[in-house]
Amino acid sequence: MTDVIKLLPDHVANQIAAGEVVQRPASVVKELLENAIDAKATQITLVIKDAGKTLIQVIDDGIGMTSTDARLCLERHATSKISKADDLFALNTKGFRGEALASIAAIAHMEVQTRTENQEVGTLIQIEGSEVKKQESIVTSKGTIIRVKNLFYNIPARRNFLKSDSVERRHIIDEFQRVALAHPNVAFTFLSNDTTLFSLPKSKLRQRIVNIFGNKMKERLVPVAEETDIVRVSGFVQKPEFARKNRNEQFFFVNDRYIKSGYLHHAVVAAFEGLLKPDTQPGYFLFLDVDPRSIDINIHPTKTEIKFDDEHAIYTLLRATIKHSLGQFSITPALDFSLDSELETPYEYENKKPVPPTIQVDSDFNPFKEEARRMKQFRAGNFRAKPTESWEALYTGIEKEKTTTSFESPTFSDKEVIEHKRTIEGLQGTDFEAEHVIGTLFEDVNAKPSSNTFQLHRKYIVTSIKSGVVIIHQHLAHQRVLYEGLLRNISVKEAVSQQLLFPLQLSFSAQDIALLANLREQLETTGFVIEKLEGETMEVSGIPVHINESSVQEIMEQLLDDMKQDVPGESFSQFDVLAKSLAKTMAIKVGTALTEEEQEHLINQLFACKEPTLSPANRKLLITLGIDYLDNKFM
Ligand code: ADP
Ligand code: MG
Repeated sequence: MTDVIKLLPDHVANQIAAGEVVQRPASVVKELLENAIDAKATQITLVIKDAGKTLIQVIDDGIGMTSTDARLCLERHATSKISKADDLFALNTKGFRGEALASIAAIAHMEVQTRTENQEVGTLIQIEGSEVKKQESIVTSKGTIIRVKNLFYNIPARRNFLKSDSVERRHIIDEFQRVALAHPNVAFTFLSNDTTLFSLPKSKLRQRIVNIFGNKMKERLVPVAEETDIVRVSGFVQKPEFARKNRNEQFFFVNDRYIKSGYLHHAVVAAFEGLLKPDTQPGYFLFLDVDPRSIDINIHPTKTEIKFDDEHAIYTLLRATIKHSLGQFSITPALDFSLDSELETPYEYENKKPVPPTIQVDSDFNPFKEEARRMKQFRAGNFRAKPTESWEALYTGIEKEKTTTSFESPTFSDKEVIEHKRTIEGLQGTDFEAEHVIGTLFEDVNAKPSSNTFQLHRKYIVTSIKSGVVIIHQHLAHQRVLYEGLLRNISVKEAVSQQLLFPLQLSFSAQDIALLANLREQLETTGFVIEKLEGETMEVSGIPVHINESSVQEIMEQLLDDMKQDVPGESFSQFDVLAKSLAKTMAIKVGTALTEEEQEHLINQLFACKEPTLSPANRKLLITLGIDYLDNKFM
């Protein structure tokens, strides 16, 4: 047999390496920004076109390169940042592999324009698919400009694999924010298709956070600071009352490098213990400075995990430090630093006899009193005597039902009912006896509610039907009702809105406002009346009838989060995300007590839906237990 092994030509090797370093435009942005930081730039400008697909340009005022270096930097394993293996253990730079530029040059059209302080003229190099096409002297200011055009032009498969512009742009914004947060002493500008997304002057960290995330951050940040032999902790956490449902505002930096760490995240969450509403996440911007020798930085360039020598100590310290900060700013009423020592029994107590605690009994207490009061109100026709909860606003539609045609009150035509039966029939094979059960339900849809519903654990509505029992998840069911209503409103473009006495002023970051501006028309078709949407302010003078004024900010924030996670390309799915998001925030929550009347109303609305068995996110929202099934259980 003849020899078969050959060395891959450089451009092929580079393309393969590029696959690892450059996954999407955001990876290029990260590498170029980090190079500019390593070059000690004080002002960095990022310009992208079409989410980086056609152009990514980074301009810096750093140390620049000589013409020889400018040529060399495009070679693989060409780096100025380390020269011997030992250097690896004392890294102070972001890069060190000398791989990024070579990789990018292999899969794009690239231009390097650079000049050092001491040179009179600079250098321009043009390169296409690892091949130098042009090199010449050029008049240029000190620093470096790198232009990356037509990314993946020679790898169509990769290019086709890229997501929509909005998704790719989101990834770029994420990378940009991480670098910009880590280096507040560097000024940044970020332009996307000629619009300025960010303009961040050199500042302190607090101001940088505010400049990136908007003025709302001003009141939210609590400083964190601690220094020990192994680590210096600094930065900010957000006050617990501003905790959010997602993890968008959680940042760890180790030696100014963004990292992800489930373990350290846990330490932060532990510090917030008892202060957060269920299902919310604390926001944080935390910086850990450690001796570079104590971390294993030899990780893949695109990875953000890190390995510490002394992870456990860092965990404990981080948790205590944050607790302390929250305590100092009187956010936590009691601190448990001293808890451990207090738990130890003091010496003089050792021989003390235990005394039984005295119990005070309220002889007037009558558990039935409250119940009796509610019953009285109920009989008097006042069903909503409980303290106002936000969901109630959603339910005001029940009363208005007769006079308005809001989407809360669908009418049931025979045709619709038949359609539902079909939908349900299509669901055969799931674990409920669909046809029979739903058929029965629909038969009494128009009949007077049979007051045979009850609420289980303020979460499920249980109702009996001829053939057994239906158990409905109240939150998911209401989401379905609202979702279909919203879609109807959006498609017919007419919504009922309530005029506010005083317009609401909401503040968001400039990027969020830009995102909301894209959705303006759709929001208006759901009933929002938007007066102003610019800078960092949204002014709303009207809102859909079934929502509460006080929940508008939350609704918008949820919407923004959903849009960021699931940024759709076409306008149809944009409607869909909007409707799903609004339905999710507006739907009655688990834990909300519902009167019988409300329960029945919800059931009726649900079974008038096109798809009464699944939530908008396709979760099963009801189950049925047939009599046969129950009979079997008693065999
Ligand atoms: P690494 O950053 O790992 O060294 P790169 O491929 O990213 O590898 O860059 C190669 C070299 O090119 C760097 O080590 C640096 O000397 C030089 N270089 C890259 N970008 C810049 C820049 N913006 N300013 C000055 N020098 C740069
Ligand atoms: Mg680099």
